[in-house]
Amino acid sequence: MYDIQKIREDFPILSREVYGRPLVYLDNGATTQKPRQVVQSITDEYYSVNSNVHRGVHFLSQQATELHEASRETVRRFIHARSSNEIVFTRGTTESINLLASSFADSRMKEGDEVIVSVMEHHSNIVPWQLQAARKGIVLKVIPMNDRGELLTDEYEKLFSDRTRLVSLVHVSNVLGTVNPVKEMIAVAHAHGVPVLIDGAQSVPHMKVDVQDLDADFFAFSGHKIYGPTGVGVLYGKEEWLDKLPPYQGGGEMIQNVSFEKTTFNELPFKFEAGTPDYIGTTALAKALDYVSAIGMENIAAHEHELTQYAMQRLKAIEGMRIFGEAGNKSGVISFLVGNIHHLDMGTLLDRLGIAVRTGHHCAQPLMLRLGIEGTVRASFGLYNTKEEIEVLAAGIERVSRMF
Ligand code: PLP
Repeated sequence: MYDIQKIREDFPILSREVYGRPLVYLDNGATTQKPRQVVQSITDEYYSVNSNVHRGVHFLSQQATELHEASRETVRRFIHARSSNEIVFTRGTTESINLLASSFADSRMKEGDEVIVSVMEHHSNIVPWQLQAARKGIVLKVIPMNDRGELLTDEYEKLFSDRTRLVSLVHVSNVLGTVNPVKEMIAVAHAHGVPVLIDGAQSVPHMKVDVQDLDADFFAFSGHKIYGPTGVGVLYGKEEWLDKLPPYQGGGEMIQNVSFEKTTFNELPFKFEAGTPDYIGTTALAKALDYVSAIGMENIAAHEHELTQYAMQRLKAIEGMRIFGEAGNKSGVISFLVGNIHHLDMGTLLDRLGIAVRTGHHCAQPLMLRLGIEGTVRASFGLYNTKEEIEVLAAGIERVSRMF
């Protein structure tokens, strides 16, 4: 039984009003709201455990360290990594990708080497590679898509050459909702001897992810998009890969021994975690993962699938509606435009009705160029959204349309 009312009660913000109307929060692709359990964990740890981790002999430091390392184990279990040494805590998906781009390019790429990305990447999986391209003369190759928003896998295969060093691919598009067939695409890359980084920012919150089943070499996600706190995220990497790669930042925690002549680095995963980690955030992230696990990722996926089907049908019935992204396998993200109403006008007027959607290019300008538009209105669903809220959205869009 998916008890939506009980779930909604865990999220106090959902019962607030904006402009005198009940909030309808449909901006979960940008960030999700937090259940009491997550917020409580932050307060509890600051009030009763807070102490810097890893270096202390005293009671509080040891307790904080135990919580922090238990959270790493919770993340390992959640994405089914083989070892907790493969879980590196970062600030989020963006930092995870920058970490890998920097460390991988520094140690394993030279001028003319190639990275394959797709046309539907978020800027955070484009710009880090461009920074490395400018530094090292690396070449980016781009997988195209069809008009439904599905990657052309035949074209993908043709992009491999003897200079391909890495594929860096989004699991679920934050604009189109397309769920890319990453397991098959990883297998293709491996057949060419090429490792793969998956940007899981929009997949981990909405479906069961098993990094061993996918055979992903690296996998990145953000805590705040899966009902956890801001400022904490994860880079998963196969141990044999992380062992080979050099550190990203230098500082405390990541060293074994420092002298002015020579420094040796700490073991995994600490080699990649310079400085004081957000140990309060990692505990809260683990609480968020426990929260969604208790509901069941399969149940969340089924609920959001039903919402998406319903919303697609309901929105398509609106005159002048154009939906961007109609992939066969689509998650709960709907980008649209109505007639020639500007996305910003639509978003602003929906806001006055209490409906929170996102407008603009969604940090995917190359994709906007491919679609031939400047931006869209985007509704993105979470585990607490309801069909009634979709009705409010649809009625809101109709009302705004009538005004134009
Ligand atoms: N990748 C995708 C597909 C995203 O949707 C986002 C955020 O919207 C990111 C990466 C970046 O995530 P963060 O800002 O949490 O680092």
